[in-house]
Amino acid sequence: MALVDNINKGLATINVKTSTLMEASKYKTQITNRENEIHSLKQYIGEMVYLNRSAFTLDMVRQQISEIEAKYAAIEELKKQLAELEEAEKSILGSEASDNTPKIFCPSCGTPNEVGSKFCEKCGNKLE
Ligand SMILES: [Zn+2]
Repeated sequence: MALVDNINKGLATINVKTSTLMEASKYKTQITNRENEIHSLKQYIGEMVYLNRSAFTLDMVRQQISEIEAKYAAIEELKKQLAELEEAEKSILGSEASDNTPKIFCPSCGTPNEVGSKFCEKCGNKLE
């Protein structure tokens, strides 16, 4: 049954997309958290420089600096995982996957429109 196959494929696509989206947002949240922590650390360093302005040494904030470096490294790692996630989704769904729904092409400008549309979403030409 071609219809059942199409429905199953559609559901599988939705599942992959949903789980990828959830994974991706988890990574993005972690990246945002790290960025906020880096921001706080930089603020702390600035405070320390100011408060100790008459006798500031880098040793006073060395720990914070290495924490910042570690967090930047973690962000890079998260971005890499995010990119891999998007690659994995593409290879599962295929690059055409998001565009495999049947389309009706505008006779005037050729834009693919959702089946059932009355007018072209691009040029407003009447369809069919
Ligand atoms: Zn059109």
